[in-house]
Amino acid sequence: MGEHYSAREMIEKLISFDTVSRHSNLDLIDFVADYLAGHGIASTRVFNEDKSKANLYATVGPVKEGGVVLSGHTDVVPVEGQPWDTDPFTVVEKDGRLYGRGTSDMKSFSAIALSKVPEMLEKGLSVPIHFALSYDEEIGCIGAPAMIDEIAANLPAPRAVIVGEPTMMDIVSAHKGILTLTTTVTGREAHSSLVEDGVSAVMVGAELMTFIANMMAENKARSKADCPFSPPYTTLTCGVVEGGTAGNILARKCSFMWDIRHIPEDDPMNFVDRFNAYCTEEVLPRMREIAPEADIVTELKANVPALRPEDSGEAEMLVRAITGQNTAHAVSYAAEAGQFQQAGFSTVICGPGSIGVAHQPNEYIDISQVTAAEKFMSRLIDRLSK
Ligand SMILES: [Zn+2]
Repeated sequence: MGEHYSAREMIEKLISFDTVSRHSNLDLIDFVADYLAGHGIASTRVFNEDKSKANLYATVGPVKEGGVVLSGHTDVVPVEGQPWDTDPFTVVEKDGRLYGRGTSDMKSFSAIALSKVPEMLEKGLSVPIHFALSYDEEIGCIGAPAMIDEIAANLPAPRAVIVGEPTMMDIVSAHKGILTLTTTVTGREAHSSLVEDGVSAVMVGAELMTFIANMMAENKARSKADCPFSPPYTTLTCGVVEGGTAGNILARKCSFMWDIRHIPEDDPMNFVDRFNAYCTEEVLPRMREIAPEADIVTELKANVPALRPEDSGEAEMLVRAITGQNTAHAVSYAAEAGQFQQAGFSTVICGPGSIGVAHQPNEYIDISQVTAAEKFMSRLIDRLSK
């Protein structure tokens, strides 16, 4: 007989693994695989290139079409520099809340679902529940795509995917997509008095960032009142900039990281194309008059598709029926839901906890949210049982 964990015990267990994205998540994945194996359930790992991290997927119940995928990421954001009152990797209960890194974002959803495996087996599912646990979600949703490909290729088609990001158990049917980029400007060094002998990469960088800011201002100006996102338009921002060596030297290098968080109806590549055209047609010719070696190189880092609301989508209908809710919401953060949808699966987001405390020091989940998610899982299991 396999081991039994209460929802609370399983949350404590998953939180105890320090799965900050830059670390390996294999201890957590091995624990989950062993736990499932104890209940007679095989799992498949999908590794990253150097095998230091893995996704895991597994099927509970009959291997047939019409199942439901429960999706969660196993990684969490760092805790360094945050004023935590308790150890982030030990669950501490206080005032009706469980504190710990990942309690809301988003180990509790996966933990609660895993704790219900014995219930799934007892009730006898007539269609399967598939677990899909990913890595590296927090650094650009780069872990899940390989697993999603395998699920699409190897599993009988599920009817719905539920991604358990924290929504306070509300239904979320739309999220923005995100494109992250790094632009590197190469100019020519010269004494800062000799502006006709050199090209300051920092000053060019400032121009390019202004161009990016202006594209966002245009988006804001054309935003529509009925757009469900907040803010209701595609945003473009720069988060990190570095460059230059001294105040009196025209800088040879400047690089900056930027992101495009796009609403589903905007194609983010249009902004990249406009940016590149501005660089090649207006900025570079001017730089190369002085410094033929001048260059501007933009690299795409991550590209996560938006989640589009589906017209009477199976996933939304299923979660509506379980929760009794008849409205769906839109969120401005990106998640793996858009990737599942892009692979052809009907997908919504619904999970316990609040995005408002995610990534914060003293992240917590209300115990009432744990209870609500447990009830949700039991109802889901009932619906999928004979
Ligand atoms: Zn998350």
